[in-house]
Formats: sequence, C-alpha cells, structure tokens
Amino acid sequence: MDADHWADGVDRLLAELGPATGASRVWIFQLLEIQPEAVIQDYVFEWAAADRYRQLSQRRFRFFSSTLKDPEYRRLVEERKLGGCHDFCVPTMPVGPLRRHLESQSIRSMATVPIFVNDRWWGTLGVDDCERAVSWRGPGLDLLTAAGQLIAAALYRYQLSHRSRQIELFHKVADCGVWEVSLRNGRVWCSQTLKAALGYPKTYPRVPLRRLLALLHKKDRARLWSHFRKVYSDATPAQLRLDARVRFDKSEWVWHEIIAEIQHNEQGEPVAVAGLLVDIRQRKQHEEKVQADAERDALTGALNRRGLERYLAADAQAVRPRHFILFDIDHFKQINDTYGHPVGDALLKLMVERLQHELRTDDWLVRLGGEEFAVLASNMQDEQAIVLAERLRKSVADEPFNIKVLGLKESLSIKMSISLGIARQPENHPDPLGQMMAQADQALYTAKHAGRNRIVSDLATG
Ligand code: GH3
Ligand code: MG
Ligand code: MG
Repeated sequence: MDADHWADGVDRLLAELGPATGASRVWIFQLLEIQPEAVIQDYVFEWAAADRYRQLSQRRFRFFSSTLKDPEYRRLVEERKLGGCHDFCVPTMPVGPLRRHLESQSIRSMATVPIFVNDRWWGTLGVDDCERAVSWRGPGLDLLTAAGQLIAAALYRYQLSHRSRQIELFHKVADCGVWEVSLRNGRVWCSQTLKAALGYPKTYPRVPLRRLLALLHKKDRARLWSHFRKVYSDATPAQLRLDARVRFDKSEWVWHEIIAEIQHNEQGEPVAVAGLLVDIRQRKQHEEKVQADAERDALTGALNRRGLERYLAADAQAVRPRHFILFDIDHFKQINDTYGHPVGDALLKLMVERLQHELRTDDWLVRLGGEEFAVLASNMQDEQAIVLAERLRKSVADEPFNIKVLGLKESLSIKMSISLGIARQPENHPDPLGQMMAQADQALYTAKHAGRNRIVSDLATG
C-alpha cells in the first residue's frame, strides 16, 4: 500500500503470496470487456515460482478473448461478476472444455477471486499449482480474498488521487473554483484553488458559508438569491448560471460566472448545491467593449440612438427632470458641396469635441443620424436647459473650425452654425422619449424656418 506506484505494491504482494501458498504461479487478469459471447481480458501481473511457469510474456495472454460458449465457463463468469470465488482440483473436474483448458496449461489445481473496485468487477486474482492437485477451500481462498481486497483498495486510492489531480489541474487551467454547499447543514466543500484564493490553507477542513458569500458583490448576492429561489422551486432543470462580481482579499472586483446545480437524493429531495466559479473577466471586458462600440457612433464617438435608449432603460427607475435639446447643422449640405465629404466628416468630429466641453458628466450627447444631434440633460430647471442650449449654439457659431487638409498649406477655417429645439420630458407618458423627440423636432423645424442659428423651445409656457 505504501509503494510509490500501486503496481509496484501489487508485484510485491504477489511475490509474498507465491511462497506463502506454495503455488507455481500467482496472476492477475484485468477485465477489459464482457461481450455477449466472449470475455476480453489482459494478463497484467504475474509471480512465478520458476521460469518454466511463466506465462505473462506469452503472446496468447495479451488481450485474450475467452469464449462464453461453454456453459460451465459462462456460469463461472456470472458468479465472478457477483463476487464469487472459485477453486478447482483438476483431476476431480468433470471432463469438458474448462478442464481441458486447465490441463493444456499443466495446471493441477487453481483458485480465483474477483477484484472489485468501486463496485465494479475490475479483474481476477488467481493462483495456479502445476504440481499439486489440492483443494484451496478455507485458508487458501481466504488469503486470496484478503489479497484481492488489498489490491482493490490500492487501485481505488490510485484512481481517486488520479482523478483529484486531474480535477485540480482542470481548475488551474480553467481558472475556476469548485464548491459544494449542503442544503441540510450549510456545510461547504471547496476545491484547493478556491480555498487558496480565499486565503485558507489547502488542507483547511471547513470554509464557513458566509466567507464564500462575502466574496460576492452585494447586488449580485441579491440576484443570486432570487435566481436560487426560482431554481429551487422549479423541479427541472435545476441549473443556475449567473455573472457576478467577486472580490478576493479586498482587491478589485472581478467578473465570474457562477454555474450551479441543485443535487437531489433518491427521494428527489434537494440536498446540495454544487457548482463552479469561473473567471470570465476577459470575456466580460470583450462584451463590454463590444457593447460600448455598438452604442457609440464610430465617427464622432458620441452616443448613438441605441446607446441613448439603453441608458434611458437602465435609468428608468429614477424620477428626474429631463430635457431634450435637438440640434441640426445649418446648411451642412452646402459645406459638404463646397469642401468635400471628408472635410464634412472632420467638422462633425471637431464639433462633437467642442460640445463635449460644454457638458456635465450626466448630460449625454447623442448623434441621431447624419448631422442631427441631441443632448439629453438631467436634473435641470427649464431656464438652465435654455442656458445650456444657448451655450451650445454659441460654442459652434462663435468660433470657426480649423481643419488641416492634406496637400493644403493653410488650414481651412470654416464657420458653421446649428439650430436647436428644446423639449421637456413629459410626466406619465407611455413613450416619454418619443414624445420629447417629436416636440423637440417641431421646435427645431420652427428654428430652421425662423432663420437658423437659433433656439426654439415651448418651455416658456411651463
Ligand atoms: P438645413 O440647415 O436645413 O439643415 O440644411 P442642410 O443642408 O444641413 O440639410 P440637409 O438635410 O438637406 O442636408 C444634410 C446634409 O448632411 C446632407 C448630407 O450630405 C450631410 N451629411 C449627413 N451625414 C453626413 C456625414 O456623416 N458626413 C458628411 N460629411 N456629411 C453628412
Ligand atoms: Mg442640416
Ligand atoms: Mg438634417
């Protein structure tokens, strides 16, 4: 049991069994497969009292197939499957294929015990005696049974440690922690990597549940509970996936995905929640960048319509006064026609840059399309909104825009103006944004017709 490798221990055990029993050969067959008409085994271990008894190296014992056509042999296999031990004294056996098979190997007596690992028939341990036709009943079979159990235990421990090593390796590679919480008593089991991340020694027996939960951002903990309650009350599928912010040792919040499954006992009662904690910061950063890109106008960097809508949806709960200042560049077609489209593009960029300086952080500059823009301003009185609109107008009109053009020595200096329409967000309206935009559009239309480079609002009535 304390050998470096389980197989070395088995070799040593067979070398003890041989002299102790006086057998010619001690062997182990590993069961590979039971087919309907044959059993496939491999001859994997052997101790032999003398060279002439050796069989392990013989070709016919490499992955050999034994036919189940003989009813005697079939019964033997059925009994081994159930843990049955056997002993044979060849001269007293009825004449048949099994006896002939043993005689062909010069075997005079034989005993076998199956080796069971984790409730599965793993292989067979046997002794052959080529000299003595004796009965192995009693102490002989008892000794063999005890040896079979030792081998099974060594194999099982090897398989377990092998598996847990694989799991730990998987955790390291996948950057994830594995955990399980008992629903009966709240007891927590954590993988070593997770324990280490929590600051516990790897061998620490019991991590408190509250320490595990304390990793989560408050908001995500609340989301986790509500998800969990839903999954808990639904019978199937009892799986939960949630992106959550996790913080180890007071450092930064890092996005993780929680994948959890409720486990049931045979009566169908939930007994545990088990799951993974997977570091997804890269995926999250990528998602955030993709979302940010999708919500911004590529030319000017201003928010686009989609971004505006998402911002409003995210902020829907807040009750705050809002103003919509819609504006459009005056005679922009003419500017394009005079200087060319690329100059028009550069102007759009410069104008957005200039206007951003006039805005507070919670005013949103949106490019609605073409040369039509808007500012969504929050928490302002009507007068303040008008002042802001006037500032925007002056900021565009008062200073010409200087544009360097490739191949031209002097940069172009272009004067430009905008017309603006202002509307206030209506209260208790099913589509406040749509309503506000329509009103601002009406005001802008009026401003254009009144001579451009001016502001029109119907706020004065308010
Ligand atoms: P008005 O004062 O009535 O608004 O006159 P306008 O010429 O600005 O109005 P109109 O809607 O007739 O023309 C808008 C022009 O804006 C037409 C189009 O070529 C130009 N435009 C729209 N989007 C872009 C863009 O992304 N880049 C450039 N360079 N021009 C654009
Ligand atoms: Mg225009
Ligand atoms: Mg226009």
